[in-house]
Amino acid sequence: MEEYIELNLGFTKVQLLKAGDGYIQMDAGYKSNVKKYLRLLKKQNIDPKAIKLIIVNHAHFDHVGGLKALKDISNAQVLVHENDANFLRKGISAEVKPTSFISKILINLLPNSLKFFDPVEPDIVIKDEYSLQEFGINAKVIHTPGHTSGTISIITEKGNAFIGCCAHGFPLRINSGLPTIAQDIEQVLSSWERIIKEGAKKIYISHGKPVNINKMKKILKKKRSSPIDLS
Ligand SMILES: [Zn+2]
Ligand SMILES: [Zn+2]
Repeated sequence: MEEYIELNLGFTKVQLLKAGDGYIQMDAGYKSNVKKYLRLLKKQNIDPKAIKLIIVNHAHFDHVGGLKALKDISNAQVLVHENDANFLRKGISAEVKPTSFISKILINLLPNSLKFFDPVEPDIVIKDEYSLQEFGINAKVIHTPGHTSGTISIITEKGNAFIGCCAHGFPLRINSGLPTIAQDIEQVLSSWERIIKEGAKKIYISHGKPVNINKMKKILKKKRSSPIDLS
């Protein structure tokens, strides 16, 4: 049986997947969320030292701001895609590009200081695909670019997919769907196609409720039949 736990840090959610006698975690949340994270972890009776690997969905401050602190507390390894690795090493958020009017306003409201976070030297840097078997789970990480060029997702053998910001939900948009911030929305669509092809059935994201796979397929079909209109 596949077991996963979601910790709701507020704006960002992080997910933990049972892997052998420990856990694999997607993302680390904001820097200011670290205390809340540790509280929620304790509530679940999980020792931070049980976290063996933290997978970076992508190098934006709301996903990696707390990473340095969490890595130090847990001793977990950090896995990132090569395209986002240097942002992590430098402690600078990857470029942010709005795809909607609302996200444009949101981005403009963000203070500049949020761009920066404590740098982290990754332990594992991947390209297209990476098996998580060695960590005791039948799952893999795949490259799903678009939100940033180094965005990655976890897909388990049973079809649970943890895709971070490959899709967005509330409060970035009312219902979960295409990301409202993306460097390349065409790439997002291709990544969605890959996620589905890899056998995803349940899609968990970082901001908002899970995305219904049938809704994803419908959006894809619509977008692919009218490639000019990508709003
Ligand atoms: Zn992001
Ligand atoms: Zn995010």
